[in-house]
Amino acid sequence: MAEDTFSRVETSRAVFEHDGEKCQGCGACMEACPNDAILVSVGYLEVDESSCVACGKCAQACPTGALRMTPKG
Ligand code: SF4
Ligand code: SF4
Repeated sequence: MAEDTFSRVETSRAVFEHDGEKCQGCGACMEACPNDAILVSVGYLEVDESSCVACGKCAQACPTGALRMTPKG
């Protein structure tokens, strides 16, 4: 996996990892989020700390396994 297409974001509730080489840019992860908390594109990942509830719906919606969410605690 190329370093420049891999993104990692940590919030107080979870760790998010995005592999741009697997991402198809379909937007399913963003559509699945009930709180509009995640922004994804190849080489870019942003999760809004205050609105993310660590439900995991974004990662579950990803058809390619490009997005992973690991809840903390
Ligand atoms: S874990 Fe849930 S609230 Fe957080 S970005 Fe993913 S879908 Fe949205
Ligand atoms: S659902 Fe997966 S493949 Fe689609 S944009 Fe999100 S991370 Fe990329």
